[in-house]
Amino acid sequence: MHATTRNRLGQTGLLCVVLALAYSLLGRMAFAVSRQYGDGTCMIFMPEGIALAFRILFGARIWPGILVGQTFLSVWSGSSPLTGLLIGVFNCVENAIGGRLFERWKISRRFDRPRDVALFVVLVFFVLQPISSTGGIFALYLQGAVFSGIRQAGWAAPWIDGQRLFYEFATAPPAWLRWWIGNALGQLTVTPLILSWCTPGTKASASSRTIDLCLLSGALSLIALIAFTGFPPHPLLLLGMICLLLIWIGQGAGLRGITLANVLIAVAMTWSGIAGMELGEQAPLQERLFNVGFVVAPVAVLSLMLFAMLEERRFLIQQLTEWASTDPLVKLSNRRHFIEVAEREIARARPGERGMVFMMLDADNFKQINDRYGHAAGDEALKAIAGACAQIAGNTDAAARLGGEEFALLLPGATLEAGRLAAERLRERIASIPVRIADRLSFSLTVSIGLAQLNENGNLDALMSAADSALYEAKRSGRNRVVVSERVPT
Ligand code: GH3
Ligand code: MG
Ligand code: MG
Repeated sequence: MHATTRNRLGQTGLLCVVLALAYSLLGRMAFAVSRQYGDGTCMIFMPEGIALAFRILFGARIWPGILVGQTFLSVWSGSSPLTGLLIGVFNCVENAIGGRLFERWKISRRFDRPRDVALFVVLVFFVLQPISSTGGIFALYLQGAVFSGIRQAGWAAPWIDGQRLFYEFATAPPAWLRWWIGNALGQLTVTPLILSWCTPGTKASASSRTIDLCLLSGALSLIALIAFTGFPPHPLLLLGMICLLLIWIGQGAGLRGITLANVLIAVAMTWSGIAGMELGEQAPLQERLFNVGFVVAPVAVLSLMLFAMLEERRFLIQQLTEWASTDPLVKLSNRRHFIEVAEREIARARPGERGMVFMMLDADNFKQINDRYGHAAGDEALKAIAGACAQIAGNTDAAARLGGEEFALLLPGATLEAGRLAAERLRERIASIPVRIADRLSFSLTVSIGLAQLNENGNLDALMSAADSALYEAKRSGRNRVVVSERVPT
């Protein structure tokens, strides 16, 4: 066997063992809480969340982990191995569909757009878990565990009687409902947690002060409300606090923080549900655990959704800022951004002794280049000029395409002589660049450069106008040269 095949097989085996162990252990813990009612289901069934994350991260090969884990779990919790195997088969099918649709719908593992969160919620609640719960309840029906009435009525063989099956499903929906919500909550909380920790780039981004302030004032108002309405606080107020806390965590700690908080909240709420500390102390355990879902589901969906909305907003602002300041063809600053940068530099330079040199470049006979080699070749030539300018400027902010085939460069702190030498170097470098138009064909081009230096009380307009005049002089006196402005810009 090939070494890489052997490695992959070993890795798959290890993944399946880890999944089977986690699946059965966490499943056993869940059943320890809910088994009391004999329907084998609980409110937050985390193994399903682990299985879906494994499928998304490692592909279809992890299915034996689910099958073994589920069978083992069923036997461990008192069901027959056959029932476990059947439930396992249904969960494998559901898992495979989950993996495929996660890819097909292009849901991001970063959950950084509202559409990713919305599609994930739809996938888990309305596609996957209806399959898993229907399959699971069907398996239990065959075993006769769910609908004990079947046995009581004397149907010894749990064989499929269509009419009876329909009747049982229609009159005993709580088991299906609890299975559905419990498994969906497991996936909603655990899958994004595992994905966020296994996906690069999900670390926290910088927090926004406005959002921090909004959250702080929201939290203070809620504390005031709690103080006003008395302790222990109303569960809805607590829910409000949890949501604010989650958004704040999401801002500060990113998706990893949000998803970890969601799982911790799910565990804490389940624990408080078991202890009878939350909504409806008097209610039976089954109902109390059901209530936990009503808190955990909206908290998880809301926090993930808000996180995604903030991330999308941050990304759009970043993209728009880049588009508003960069030339799309040559990727240097555009005129607007360059003028902003230059104004800032001039304001900083004036009080001190530092010099400031401004260069204006214009490609020579560029119209002819376009006419001779085509517009696409002209574009390549512009990119070559931009590359050389960026190299000389060192900092891409200080080099710009002003428009057409005109470029500008700012050299803060340079003397006029240093600026002139840099301009000469730039002119020579551009003239030596071969611009490729075909495999073996290339052409070269030249630029003319006008140079001006900022004086004590000059401004940007005067500086640009002086450089422009020098550039005009360079063109007039034969092109492919550097001319230093004689005029002191005022
Ligand atoms: P001079 O040496 O006097 O500067 O002559 P020139 O031909 O370079 O000057 P002119 O202003 O007559 O022509 C500039 C040309 O630059 C005209 C225009 O088609 C071309 N141009 C402007 N923007 C672009 C662009 O983005 N891509 C290409 N390929 N050509 C451009
Ligand atoms: Mg021009
Ligand atoms: Mg030109």
